[in-house]
Amino acid sequence: MKSWVIGNWKLNPATVSAVETLVDDLLAQTTSSQTDVAAQCQMMVAPSLLHLSPVQQKIKDTQIQLATQDVTALTAVSGAYTGDVSAAQLKDLGVQWSIIGHSERRQYYQEDNELLLQKLLHCASQGLGVILCVGESEAEFDAGDTEQVLVEQLAVVKTFLQQLLSQLNTEEVDNYISNQLIIAYEPVWAIGTGKVPSVDEVTAVHGFIRQQLQVFNAKLVQTPIIYGGSVKPDNAANFAASEQINGVLVGGAALQAQSFMEIAQAFAVK
Ligand code: PEP
Repeated sequence: MKSWVIGNWKLNPATVSAVETLVDDLLAQTTSSQTDVAAQCQMMVAPSLLHLSPVQQKIKDTQIQLATQDVTALTAVSGAYTGDVSAAQLKDLGVQWSIIGHSERRQYYQEDNELLLQKLLHCASQGLGVILCVGESEAEFDAGDTEQVLVEQLAVVKTFLQQLLSQLNTEEVDNYISNQLIIAYEPVWAIGTGKVPSVDEVTAVHGFIRQQLQVFNAKLVQTPIIYGGSVKPDNAANFAASEQINGVLVGGAALQAQSFMEIAQAFAVK
């Protein structure tokens, strides 16, 4: 399975010119790299909504894919929803994926499974792939509740599949879940903190997630499960060594082309 290396730029950088410099640097690094990193691992970037268009212009003929960090839950297409952006609008712009349920959105916007389900369904209806983020807080980790939290968060996948099957035929659903669904395990306490779980811990959690997914649909055994939380060039190779870790979601270290490329390189040789 090809690994995924996805940069979540969050609300960074502050200007269009800085975002263009970041993409130019990234493209320069991918072309100058000894190994064809972009061919050997699937790279993706998720700029802010405002920066999707300039980034799309620069990467449209490259192997780097484009994701949005969020999508409205209110409609798949268009309507009277001030301030929102729909899956159809994003797809029309050339966006291929959406991050869904990042812990910052769960925390600041109280996003729950009911709302996330709508977002997942809207993305699927417009042909946008989804990167669904799950993960426990520090208190939940300390209490030994990681698995329980994941069971609750992953329950949305089961409902999503049931509803997809009522809208699409089996082949279309199989196709969607085989090619356009990624789960990102991001322990909240590891995001932006420099604290990382051990590779063995992440491997065990990914094994657990895979087991849960398989119960929903046997095809989900193939779903890429990526890790996110303080991934840096100096720990990427450790994560890449685990068969259960199919890539990474990178925040801070994705804001420098060089560190993002070093992380991608660790996964390209996998
Ligand atoms: C994230 O926010 O998805 C993330 C993984 O951030 P960081 O790499 O900075 O911990």
